[in-house]
Amino acid sequence: MKTIGLIGGMSWESTVSYYREINEGVKRALGGWHSARMVLYSVDFHDVEILQREEKWDETADILGSAAQRVEAAGADFLVICTNTMHKVVPQIEKHIDIPILHIADATARRIKSLGYRRVGLLGTNYTMEQDFYKGRLKEKHGIDTIVPGQADRGIVHDVIYDELCKGTIAERSRCEFVRIISMLNEGGAEAVILGCTEIALLIRQEHTPVPLLDTVLIHAEEAVRVALD
Ligand code: GLU
Repeated sequence: MKTIGLIGGMSWESTVSYYREINEGVKRALGGWHSARMVLYSVDFHDVEILQREEKWDETADILGSAAQRVEAAGADFLVICTNTMHKVVPQIEKHIDIPILHIADATARRIKSLGYRRVGLLGTNYTMEQDFYKGRLKEKHGIDTIVPGQADRGIVHDVIYDELCKGTIAERSRCEFVRIISMLNEGGAEAVILGCTEIALLIRQEHTPVPLLDTVLIHAEEAVRVALD
């Protein structure tokens, strides 16, 4: 079994989900007392969040690049970055390390294609929904079209992520808003909706909506287990 390197803490609420899902995956695959070999470096999200807001992406890349070096030095064979948003700086992080990064958008795209979807909705932070590093990769590398909510709804999704989910608050009112936004994406032509932020599945699960959901934590964790056991 390979050793999985994780950069977490963005937020730690969703890093917990990664830790659990990866261990569950190894247990399902190998049985008995098996659990995953992992190295986790968890950052202080306070520092990252301020730099994101100030659009100081190179400085976020320095934090994550140094975290990645520590994870590699601790023996990881490959790296899993436990957030969609910070995949924006993957090209800079790659320069700090020799081990490969298991890209969350590539893992998600492989799942989308295996399910036969061509056009999907995308929910995430404003950075993920509005900038090109995620949608562009899905389109250019994998031929997948994405639809995002309108500006007001993007604002709701973004604010719920930072002000509630990253702080451990789960609110019924916000769940209703997400259900409404997911239905609108579906009516607008999305065959499924990517939960493209690692905290969203803490709020909304498949039982809350008939629209097929693609949980990036589950997908990323399952790929990590597959690669670790390959
Ligand atoms: N975990 C979130 C994501 O998957 C948002 C927090 C962050 O900015 O990293 O995008």
